[in-house]
Amino acid sequence: MKMKVLWMYHDIMDLYGDRGNIQVLKKRCLDRDIEIEVDTCGINEEKNLSDFHLIFIGGGADREQGLLYEDLVNRKQDILDAIDAKSFVLLICGGYQFFGQYYIDNNNREIQGLGIFDYYTKSNPNVGRCIGNIEIEADLDGKKVTVVGFENHGGQTMNVTTPFGKVVSGHGNVYQGEYEGFYNGQVLGTYMHGPLLPKNPEVADFIIKKALSKEYDNVELKPLDDTLELQAKEAMRKRMHAKKG
Ligand code: GLN
Repeated sequence: MKMKVLWMYHDIMDLYGDRGNIQVLKKRCLDRDIEIEVDTCGINEEKNLSDFHLIFIGGGADREQGLLYEDLVNRKQDILDAIDAKSFVLLICGGYQFFGQYYIDNNNREIQGLGIFDYYTKSNPNVGRCIGNIEIEADLDGKKVTVVGFENHGGQTMNVTTPFGKVVSGHGNVYQGEYEGFYNGQVLGTYMHGPLLPKNPEVADFIIKKALSKEYDNVELKPLDDTLELQAKEAMRKRMHAKKG
């Protein structure tokens, strides 16, 4: 098998080590003799998004989001075609906000979203930024998994009909919120940096499997030794719970 990944705006949207997600995907594929090819796509670069099993956009601050949203909005049809063609889409923070209706920042500036989903994001000066470690109970197509990460966003994302998970500790979509992220079976958006995949190997494999199913039937992934990853995750959980006290 071969997995083709398109890392969009790799040179602009790469906050808090989001590139680590790509490293993890590479390692977990290669350890199983699955070929992996990672291509990048910057502003104005021509790519056919449907050619890829997985499309990834990392997080970015307001300034970065402002730089590229027009390029992204121009690709709306191509993105819809890729989703139709069963490409899997993974979006972190600023990337996640882009797929909703809009993002209004602290200076009341509106950054247009793709408008593919109903959710929208607004800064709220009356609440603090959502910053810190976060733990959620995610629902991966019916399988409940504890997922840990780090969040830092001023944007409050509302009107999410299908969240990625339920917040155990931290904020999530809104300040002191109950739910985190968005997931509809094909597109996964989350505020979890950290980066997401190194401490959450179950999520990494889930994404690899979903992405490969675009082309291959009954994908089974050979189990890997995740002792270290799960230890890191447990250490983070313990620290969070100790703080909560
Ligand atoms: N600029 C956005 C916000 O603060 C996204 C930040 C991020 O990607 N971490 O809400």
